[in-house]
Amino acid sequence: MALGRAEIRVVGRNGAWLAAPDLIYHYVEAHGYLPPDAFIDGVMSDRLPDEVHNQ
Ligand SMILES: [Zn+2]
Repeated sequence: MALGRAEIRVVGRNGAWLAAPDLIYHYVEAHGYLPPDAFIDGVMSDRLPDEVHNQ
């Protein structure tokens, strides 16, 4: 998997998209960086965005 070219998008508690560069995996694993709680929560859940719920 090539890193640095894409964005990771997850859905937060409020149904809005949260975006982060895919290099965030490198930051987490190599540098111990912790993304914001809302982002972690969105990654851990399989939440769908509000626009999907409303269809
Ligand atoms: Zn590094």
